[in-house]
Amino acid sequence: KFSKEQAMRKKLHNQIEEAKGNIRVFCRCRPLSKVEASNGHATVVDFSAAKDGDIGILTGSSTKKTFKFDRVYTPKDDQVDVFADASPMVTSVLDGYNVCIFAYGQTGTGKTFTMEGTDKNRGVNYRTLEQLFKIVEERKETSTYSIFVSVLEVYNEQIRDLLATAPTTKRLEIRQASEGFHHVPGLVEAKVENTKEVWDVLQVGNNARAVGSNNVNEHSSRSHCMLCIMVRANNLITGECTKSKLWLVDLAGSERLARTEVQGERLKEAQNINRSLSALGDVISALATKSSHIPYRNSKLTHLLQDSLGGDSKTLMFVQISPSEQDSGETLSSLNFASRVRGVELGPAKKQVDTAELQKLKQMLDKAKQELRTKD
Ligand code: ADP
Ligand code: MG
Repeated sequence: KFSKEQAMRKKLHNQIEEAKGNIRVFCRCRPLSKVEASNGHATVVDFSAAKDGDIGILTGSSTKKTFKFDRVYTPKDDQVDVFADASPMVTSVLDGYNVCIFAYGQTGTGKTFTMEGTDKNRGVNYRTLEQLFKIVEERKETSTYSIFVSVLEVYNEQIRDLLATAPTTKRLEIRQASEGFHHVPGLVEAKVENTKEVWDVLQVGNNARAVGSNNVNEHSSRSHCMLCIMVRANNLITGECTKSKLWLVDLAGSERLARTEVQGERLKEAQNINRSLSALGDVISALATKSSHIPYRNSKLTHLLQDSLGGDSKTLMFVQISPSEQDSGETLSSLNFASRVRGVELGPAKKQVDTAELQKLKQMLDKAKQELRTKD
């Protein structure tokens, strides 16, 4: 049970979170790899003011370009440090908020490391679900929750269900339900009740990702890997019902491809990756200028994320960078994009009330009243 003090503290915490705005950008730099180190690559990243959220990129022997973010992680910061900062945002999905967390950056900068992590060093995806179950357990006296997950991939502007048990030829499309909720009919939504089940589901998704591609690394750098966590919550004390979702997205590599390299099928692929990423950029720009039309429908990626990106939702972007001077061009371009994202101001996030569920409860209540009346 909640004590008064706990409730007060929670309220204060929420107010602080609210005041900070609903778009955050965290910058994470990977360590210099062994190969880079042995080839004598220099580091161009200056972390001296990382604690204040400042990061510098040396663009010449005496020139430096600096950027400000909500957090800057040095290569020494680990998965626990990163998740500690992301966790208030992810857990707000239990309170009925739509949330989107995505990792952006050039291939090889640690997007998958941050989101998925490794067996021994798990990332945001697994830690998120672990945390959600912990809170569900803590709140079991006052609220009930159901949690479902979908794992999908967007490749060449096509949605692939990574949890589907049998391959289907039917194309998966995005539909909008009457209350405005976007969903993909036919996509597997696995109900998960504990962390063991989560791990199994994530493994299935992971294994499916490699199937049918002859170069796994190349495939994963050109596709967007997306985990969707849907939460139905019912507060037993206030009667509030919410239906919300959290997207966790490992984006395709943001690097620009050399023109001469790409032809034929590869060219189509490259254009499609760029279509999704540039559509993401366009959505961000439209949000930044408070445009009346936000072009979510220009790509599968942005269309899928529509409910959780901008508007009433909370967004967290990880901009992943390499420390090497060889990558400084891509690093600057990623940081410029991330700065634009950080400049977007969103209004307060809004709870996603589950009207269908409320309707059902109201009908039950009316029926009960009716029964009481007929007894009189
Ligand atoms: P991306 O998904 O952006 O292509 P990866 O996540 O595959 O990049 O990372 C590339 C390599 O760098 C991997 O071997 C990964 O384990 C390593 N790596 C990335 N970030 C870190 C980090 N913060 N600490 C240690 N190793 C990292
Ligand atoms: Mg990756």
